[in-house]
Amino acid sequence: MDNKDIAQAIREAASRLLAEGAVDCVIGYEAGTLPMRERPFFAYTPEEAQRLTWTGFCCNNLANFLVRRPQGEAGKVAVVAQGCVSRSIVGLIKEHQITREQVHVIGVASPGMLDRDKVQALVGPEKVITAVSEEGEDLLVEGPGWQERLPRKKVMRDNCYTCVQRNPVIHDDMIGEESEPTHGGQIDKVAAPWEKLDTAGRLAAFAENYQDCIRCYACRDACPLCYCHVCFVDESQPQWCGKTQDGSDVLTYHLLRAFHCAGRCTDCGACESACPQGIKVRRLTSKIEKDVRELYGYAPGLDEKSVPPLSAHKPDDPQGFIK
Ligand code: SF4
Ligand code: SF4
Ligand code: SF4
Repeated sequence: MDNKDIAQAIREAASRLLAEGAVDCVIGYEAGTLPMRERPFFAYTPEEAQRLTWTGFCCNNLANFLVRRPQGEAGKVAVVAQGCVSRSIVGLIKEHQITREQVHVIGVASPGMLDRDKVQALVGPEKVITAVSEEGEDLLVEGPGWQERLPRKKVMRDNCYTCVQRNPVIHDDMIGEESEPTHGGQIDKVAAPWEKLDTAGRLAAFAENYQDCIRCYACRDACPLCYCHVCFVDESQPQWCGKTQDGSDVLTYHLLRAFHCAGRCTDCGACESACPQGIKVRRLTSKIEKDVRELYGYAPGLDEKSVPPLSAHKPDDPQGFIK
């Protein structure tokens, strides 16, 4: 199935669920006002469901919206989910933020999502892009008086190169065929340059990586794990973290957020895609993902049964890192 067929199948599934009253709302993606800017969309009626779409630029993690629905909307919702989004849904179920019965998963096998910044960089930053379409393994990029064909694999998001679960872990509807499992596994390379450094070197590398951070919190707001009603960075009594762009405040924010995601992050890449400054947020979260996997043999969201390691204590838990 190509993207047009998948989008049509999503619209049909959503219309059916809404018409039957099986769900109150279908959370999917709609086209943005600019090319490559697909955005989350909530369809409440079969007519609204006709706005749903599917392209390689559907980069938001829609599990994010399952725990933030307004009061009074306690009914069942359907959500469009590729592999990483379904892993986040499994995580939210394990963390008792939603129940399996409250969510209808419209699963889509992911071909790997695309990075609009890479597309813009390849065609040239000065060029205005007016249309982008996917044709098999190519991307056709068009502007006033020009068009360029790019190989899809050159403009994938970084996290999609290392993805180990493209198919939905759970689903109630499945659009298209499940794809062959991929074995990314190269996520360990993301943190590798930092791991080689001593403590001072790591601090310097960290400061350099985050030097352009403007503390907008788009990375936090895009993340399905950051659902606290009051985030520690917004607390003022006590004020856990300064509000400035000083290195120490920036470091505190990113380190604490990364630790809050330990054993929970599914490497969906939504934080990195959301960053307006192009900061490589995954350099830190990927290190924590690697440590949890190596220390506890655990990768989040891959099954519904296992207990997250930081939610349980075992007498023989590794503790060599405690000094
Ligand atoms: S991380 Fe995997 S499942 Fe998620 S968008 Fe990328 S390739 Fe698809
Ligand atoms: S920290 Fe980033 S990559 Fe990890 S789950 Fe949150 S948004 Fe996804
Ligand atoms: S989205 Fe980017 S700029 Fe904003 S707080 Fe996160 S890292 Fe900083």
